[in-house]
Amino acid sequence: MDKGVFSVPKPHNEPVKSYAPGTPERAAVLAAYNQMYHQSIEVPLWINGQEVRTQDTQSMNPPHDHQHSLGVFHKASKKEVKQAIDTALSAREKWAQTPWEQRAAIFLRAAELIAGPYRARINAATMLAQSKTVHQAEIDAACEFIDFLRFNVAYMTEMYQEQPHSTAETWNRLEYRPLEGFVYAITPFNFTAIAGNLPSSAALMGNVVIWKPSDAQVFSAQVVLDVFKEAGVPAGVINMIMGDPVMITQELLSHPDFSGLHFTGSTDVFKNLWQQIGNNIHKYKTYPRIVGETGGKDFIVAHPSADLDGLVTAIVRGAFEFQGQKCSAASRCYIPQSIWPSVSEKLMHELKTIKQGSPENPQNFMTAVIHEGSFDKLVRYIEQAKSDQDAEIIFGGGYDKTKGYFIEPTVIKTTDPHYTTMETELFGPVLTVYVYQDSDWEPTLKLVDQTSDYALTGAVFSQDRYALDQAVVALENSAGNFYINDKPTGAVVGQQPFGGARASGTNDKAGSKLNLYRWVSPRTVKEQLAVAKNYRYPFMD
Ligand code: NAD
Repeated sequence: MDKGVFSVPKPHNEPVKSYAPGTPERAAVLAAYNQMYHQSIEVPLWINGQEVRTQDTQSMNPPHDHQHSLGVFHKASKKEVKQAIDTALSAREKWAQTPWEQRAAIFLRAAELIAGPYRARINAATMLAQSKTVHQAEIDAACEFIDFLRFNVAYMTEMYQEQPHSTAETWNRLEYRPLEGFVYAITPFNFTAIAGNLPSSAALMGNVVIWKPSDAQVFSAQVVLDVFKEAGVPAGVINMIMGDPVMITQELLSHPDFSGLHFTGSTDVFKNLWQQIGNNIHKYKTYPRIVGETGGKDFIVAHPSADLDGLVTAIVRGAFEFQGQKCSAASRCYIPQSIWPSVSEKLMHELKTIKQGSPENPQNFMTAVIHEGSFDKLVRYIEQAKSDQDAEIIFGGGYDKTKGYFIEPTVIKTTDPHYTTMETELFGPVLTVYVYQDSDWEPTLKLVDQTSDYALTGAVFSQDRYALDQAVVALENSAGNFYINDKPTGAVVGQQPFGGARASGTNDKAGSKLNLYRWVSPRTVKEQLAVAKNYRYPFMD
């Protein structure tokens, strides 16, 4: 940027398409789904701008149709992991020196590719890989990913413009250097947008990245990679490797040039990664940045004044969209005794109308959970609730894994506010409700705050302004994303920066400037314009 101070396109949120009957987007996504379903593809590793195939492969299967194979992906051995590290490090210098507008142009181009020619493909791949309905795929793989890319470019330039004060004699400059080493991005199954954002946000800031997607998301990750390739991400800048997470991670985290971890996934895995980094601290050339957005036990608490239709809609969408597999999904609910009969009646009525099955049928509101491990775990909790004295399944409780990993939307009512499903992240379509006495509003807020180790998202429903204010204060540290009279899911880039504290993560707010700060190591440059020529100070006269 040595010949202009460029401004970038003003970002706006990508409009969500409706996919209503008769729309061109509906026809396009269903055609892409059909085509991809009937193909069998191979997803190689991507190292140094080259496809790398190994002897070791793993099948990719849609969760709603697990006997059907979409193809295989290749798994790295230690040899390919080392190759990815060497490649990234040799690409580092050139990429770090690439002018910011060139980096920005690549990722702005990626956003346009997803908005246009890749939209149907990335959504269809997300429907197949993660069993998202078309709406859930659209708000994730298309819109949120586009928003991440566009807003991050704007945030980068805002950050670059943040400069220290200078005087007539001294010009002070801050250079936002990329980290000296490589960034390791580990992504979860549940959002294609997160899979794209974790490597690309660090790369945008001039870092080289080794990206390991979740096994369960590789089928849509390969479309993300195709977008990066077509947008012009140079060889070695983003390398994608799949395989045994433990082996890959041990190799990467024990390397002296490891300089940052960009992780989203479960809390236990993240704690383990942090511990490994601590154990290796003497090996590193630089203190690594550690960013981890992790689990949640997200709540909805209703006041007796709550709007009932709004509350029930928030519960249905917040707890059961994408089968409760959003980190922000409502999974514990606190309802006052006085409104419980009406709330439960409306809730049961709405839940009975939910259709569940393949995402190929747009009438389905719910599909399957991600894999057999998740299915079996959810079944264990459902069965336990059926036999526990202090829990009662008041809706659903059925499951079937013959064709896909289907779990019915399930509501457990408990008399124990510390019942296991009020505290443990299950990551599935299971909501637990605790009914409290109306007079216990304030103690209930305390209970909400102290029940779980997590603090990701939460919502309060009330039409009483004093009660809302009490909740805002009492729940200050209970959620990093707090909602008033709305569901606790559906954060939008640029509007509700996302992340939680306590056991939910480092709260570096993905899709905000705060996150990008973690991928730079600023250098202060002071240039003296009035050069001192004499060491003596006036006080010495
Ligand atoms: P996961 O922890 O099982 O896997 C996440 C990633 O970590 C995957 O790539 C996986 O292969 C890898 N991994 C697993 N074990 C590992 C190990 N021992 N060493 C290194 N890497 C390992 O999580 P998931 O099931 O893919 O995603 C669901 C979890 O992610 C939930 O806990 C959810 O709350 C959380 N999540 C949080 C946010 C957020 O912003 N806070 C967003 C999305 C998901």
